[in-house]
Amino acid sequence: MIVVMEKGATQQQIDHMIERVENIGLKAHVIVGTERTVIAAIGEKREQMKESLESGSGVSEVVPILAPYKVASREVKPEPTRVCAGSLEVGAGKIGMIAGPCSVESEEQLLSTARAVKAAGATALRGGAFKPRTSPYSFQGMKEDGLKLLAAAREETGLAVVTEVVSTDDVDLVAHYADVLQVGARNMQNYRLLEAVGKVARPVLLKRGASATMDELLLAAEYILNEGNPNVMLCERGIRTFEAHTRFTLPLATVPYLHHKTHLPVVVDPSHGTGHTYLIPDMAAAAVAAGADGLILEVHPDPENALSDGYQSLTFSEFESTMRRCRKIATALDKEL
Ligand code: PEP
Ligand code: MN
Repeated sequence: MIVVMEKGATQQQIDHMIERVENIGLKAHVIVGTERTVIAAIGEKREQMKESLESGSGVSEVVPILAPYKVASREVKPEPTRVCAGSLEVGAGKIGMIAGPCSVESEEQLLSTARAVKAAGATALRGGAFKPRTSPYSFQGMKEDGLKLLAAAREETGLAVVTEVVSTDDVDLVAHYADVLQVGARNMQNYRLLEAVGKVARPVLLKRGASATMDELLLAAEYILNEGNPNVMLCERGIRTFEAHTRFTLPLATVPYLHHKTHLPVVVDPSHGTGHTYLIPDMAAAAVAAGADGLILEVHPDPENALSDGYQSLTFSEFESTMRRCRKIATALDKEL
């Protein structure tokens, strides 16, 4: 249920309602909007609860939340959420551009990429230090040494660092170095990991599982929100279909769909979504046109010799021209990139 407070409700009235929600055994999530404050009361519904809460002073109305996800739903928070982490701003009119290599490979590779994407206008640096690879024989990432290089790249360029955490055991370590924790497609339904990242003070980039539905993605986000971390970005990165001409199928209708259902910002990953360098500039532009709040793009100084995902990595100059193109579309939509 949502307890909608009256426009001029006092802090005392709000605090009183939080207490009442908690006293009847529900969890209270307070969302302070520009217009009014609402308290999402999460938990099992019982008889008379609605009537009892509605009698509270300063309460405008108590309405049920129809969506299976609660805190993530638009019903609870009609205004879009903007997630910020240092140089990265995503949502509510700001488009974030997260760019960098699939994997951190060396100081030279990472720093040269960080400088190039920063010069072209990226607002965050990506790079995997812990890699969830399909084969155990593939490069697994530089682990903490990779995290240290990411932190050094931030130090030099000022770019916020986005990097993946693959295990609950590593959450504190990755959070120590990173600005944004990425939960990858393979872990979207690793509920213990979602709870763990929900407990740390770092925004989370939650990637859609390759065969996850929209409801499953939103319920995965709900796990993070339910632990008290409000800074979740959803990421459409393509799904598995019968089609084989691309690595995954990148459905861009999910962007406006998600905007309809949730206040959380939506990032698109055309690199994993297509798996082919030559398709990425067009799909990045299309994602911005569809309303994406951010893009995450793989960029490498020498894609041919990359240790992972070289076939879907842009060169520096390809990134620069993609960035310019996306910016024009953002401007046409009155957004900032
Ligand atoms: C990545 O971004 O490097 C990655 C592994 O992506 P995904 O989880 O979407 O496969
Ligand atoms: Mn990759």
